[in-house]
Formats: sequence, structure tokens, C-alpha cells
Amino acid sequence: MRIAVLGGGPGGYSAAFEAARLGAEVTLVEKERLGGTCLNWGCIPTKTILRSAHIVSDTRRAEKYGLIATPAQVDVAALRARKEGVVDELVGQVEGSARRLKVECVYGEGKLTAPKTVEVTAADGSTTVVEADAVVLATGSVPFLLPNIDHSLSRVWTSDDATALADIPAEVVIIGGGVIGLEFADAYANFGSTVHVVELTPSCLPGNDKRVQREVQKALEVLGVVFHLGVAVDSVAQDGERVTATLTDGATLTADIVLSAPGRRPNGLGFGFPEAGIEMDRAAVKVDEFYRTSVAGVYAIGDLIGGMMLAHVAEAEGEAAAKNAVAELKGEAPTASVNLAHVPAAVYTEPGIGVVGSSRDSAKEKGLDVVQVVMKFAGNGKALGEGHADGFVQIVAEMGTGRIVGAQIVGPSAAELIQEISIPMSAGMTVAQVGHSVFGHPTLSEVIKFACIEAANKTGCSHEPKHPPIY
Ligand code: FAD
Repeated sequence: MRIAVLGGGPGGYSAAFEAARLGAEVTLVEKERLGGTCLNWGCIPTKTILRSAHIVSDTRRAEKYGLIATPAQVDVAALRARKEGVVDELVGQVEGSARRLKVECVYGEGKLTAPKTVEVTAADGSTTVVEADAVVLATGSVPFLLPNIDHSLSRVWTSDDATALADIPAEVVIIGGGVIGLEFADAYANFGSTVHVVELTPSCLPGNDKRVQREVQKALEVLGVVFHLGVAVDSVAQDGERVTATLTDGATLTADIVLSAPGRRPNGLGFGFPEAGIEMDRAAVKVDEFYRTSVAGVYAIGDLIGGMMLAHVAEAEGEAAAKNAVAELKGEAPTASVNLAHVPAAVYTEPGIGVVGSSRDSAKEKGLDVVQVVMKFAGNGKALGEGHADGFVQIVAEMGTGRIVGAQIVGPSAAELIQEISIPMSAGMTVAQVGHSVFGHPTLSEVIKFACIEAANKTGCSHEPKHPPIY
């Protein structure tokens, strides 16, 4: 049983490792480095850079902590070296797992020449042909390039250039007030840059709850970030080392760099997918609930299939696709699927954001009868002691049953705290069951506890545990 995986990002390497654990012989094809966007140009570089940015922020506020300090300044070369060290360590760990699991890694650009044949062209032009019984496509995503902007200009960057850390621009115009745009806005503003964010829709983080949008915009404005909302960048022109963005309302913004971050698109074009008979939705591969494409024995996962383009979603889908591929090769029915309703998402600004499930408005649009509770970090001892007490926990629960429908957290460690809602949500627990658990003290989590107790009272749900605990 031989399985080929095309693309070595979180989706692809998770599929490869799971298939190997299940006894398949696996070939993993990667054109750059294992780890994909997430480890090399995405999640990990940005969070590493943001950690330094938030240390600068803390030293700037040293007096508030009873300390005397000169605000930290950026050493770009050292910042880049630290980022590269973290990335290299993690890529090395993925390579080590591939070796331990006996996953064969073939480096080069893979192309389907038949549904289950991958031709790999290495950097030196040599080719290798991989024949398999099943193939998992995991070629991820690439930055979406706005057609009206000349991305060949040296002063127009995508997030790939920004994470390469050639420099920290003193003045930057960021196109797009989504997750990637705001994380860079936070980092650059903390490093002392002048930052303008241009967002087409009337608020930043489009699609998010309004209270979340307001809170994060307010925090970034305090840092000095200037938002231009409800307006787009019409054109960009470079003159020497400076670049000018002209907005659709006629305003112009001149800076060192324009960072284009309007989103990403699935990376499904140019690798022979439609030619092999695989049905596409523009650049995305179409799949069913078991990640099967329109061609038998070919699966697709992760950013390549669109939807929630997140690393942990790609990983979960990769494992599910591998299980299904192995099952089908054994003549069994596929069963593995990922329920996206309980998947958390985060933004690593300060304060951070963690969301899961529905907001009150989207729950109501789905016809659910819900209540919403908002509990602020300002009343939490741990948050006050840490000097990071901005933000709130917002819980949405169903009337009567107390089922958790969703949660939005803005505040310290929001990306970690949201798990404390997504896990009980996926276990079918009620707000009463979460709220009446004993939480450690002092912890940031206590805000979740008190929000859940209030939500339990409002929904009128029972405090009885669904399954009595076993000791
Ligand atoms: P990718 O990680 O894109 O991997 C695809 C791989 O396929 C790449 O290694 C590529 O080189 C390879 N490849 C492509 N075509 C071929 C080919 N023809 N032959 C061989 N190899 C090929 N997600 C989060 O969950 N949390 C975050 O905090 C977060 N932050 C992000 C920050 C930034 C700046 C960016 C850009 C993204 C961020 N993401 C984050 C998104 C996350 O990186 C992606 O969702 C995730 O990497 C998707 O995994 P994937 O395996 O589907 O694709």
C-alpha cells in the first residue's frame, strides 16, 4: 500500500505521518522545506516576531510595573536570527519525525501526470516519478495578489517578505485589516513604525463579532496605528526607495513599504489537477466530507480546499484523509471527518483574540434562541497583577439547554483560553457544567468560569453533570 502526499505543510506532513503509522509506505513531496507556510512563513515566524514586539511593549510600560528601564529597541539581524533559529528547530523536528516513521521525502515541485502518478522536478532539473495507490494533495495556499497592484515593485511586500525580516519599515501601509494585516500592524507599531491599515470593509477583522472588532481596533489605535476603513488601495507607485498608495477616496499615503495582505488563495493551479480530471472551484480542489476529490483514490486537504484556512484544521484534515485513504485501500468505507464547528481561531495581537463557534448575531441568524454574557478581565486578579487586564470573555449559550454555541475572547492569552471553551463545546458540555467546575486561583481562566455561571443562570439550564465523573 503506497501513498504519495503532495506538499509538506501541516496538512501534508500530518497526512504522511498518519498514513505511515497506519502501515502505508509513504512518499512526501515538498518543493521548499517541510513545515510549509505555517512553520516557514506563517504562524511560527509571526508569533516569534510578535513575542519580541510585546517585550518592547512591556519595557515601554516598565514604570507601571515599578521598574526603571529604557524601552527595548529592535536589532533586526538578531530578531531575524532568533526567528530563523525557532523555524529551523521546528523544521528539524518535522524532518526527524519523517525519518523515524520511515516517510520518504522527495524534494522538488510535484505535478500530477496521471491521477496517481506524481512527477517531481528537483531544483537541478532532474525528475523522479512517484507511483502510488492513493494520493493526498496538500499544496496549501499562496498570498492573494490584487490585480491592480504591481507586486514586482521591490517596495511592495507580501507576508512572505515581511517574515523574511530583511528590515523593519519605519513607515508602512498595510493593505487588509484581517488577521495577517493586524498581527503585522501590532508588531511594527510596537517596534516604533508608523503604521496605516487600509481595509475595504467598514471594520477591521471582517466577519468577526462587532465587540471584538471595536476592542482590537481601539487597542491598536492606542499604539498609534491609523485605520482607513471602508476604502481600498487603488494603485501603488514606487519612486526610488519610497512607495505611494493612492486610495479609492483619492487620499495618498507614502511609506517605505506597502505590505499587501488582503488574504490568501488555494494553491491548486499549475500542478496538473484539473488535467487529471479533478474537479476544482477556481484555485481550490473540491472534496466531499471525507476529503475525497472527484477522482477515486485522490484526496485533498488543508488550505488547498479553502474554508477555514488554519494550520490546525489542515493537520486534522490531513490525519482524517490518511485514515480514509488507508481504509479505502483495504476495501473499507471512509469514516474520518473534521467537525469545524468547534475549531478555535486566534489573532495574536495584544490584547489577543480567540474565537470559537457562533457569535450572538450569527447564532440568531441560524434561528437559535441564545443569551450572551460578557465578563471583563478588569475584575480578574491575575490579569490585574500581570498588567494586562483589557478585554473580555463573551459566551453565547442556548436558552433552556445551556449548550455552548460560541465564545469570543479578547484579552491576555486569548489563544490559549479559547481552548477552555472549544473542548467543553465539542464534548457537549453546558455552561453550568463548565461554570460549576473548580478552577485554579488566581488564573485568567476564572473569567470563563464566572461568565459560564452567569450564562447558566440566564439560560436556566440544570447544573447536573451529563455524565457523572469517575474517580
Ligand atoms: P501549507 O502550509 O501552505 O503547505 C503547503 C506546502 O506545499 C508548502 O510547503 C509548499 O512549498 C508545498 N507545495 C506547494 N506546491 C507544491 C508542489 N507542486 N510540489 C511540492 N510541494 C508543493 N494558521 C494558524 O492556524 N495559526 C496562525 O497563527 C497562523 N498564522 C499565519 C500567519 C501568516 C503570515 C500566514 C501566511 C498564515 C498563517 N496561518 C496561521 C495559516 C497557516 O499557515 C495555514 O493555514 C497552513 O500552513 C496550511 O497548511 P497546508 O498544509 O494546507 O498548506
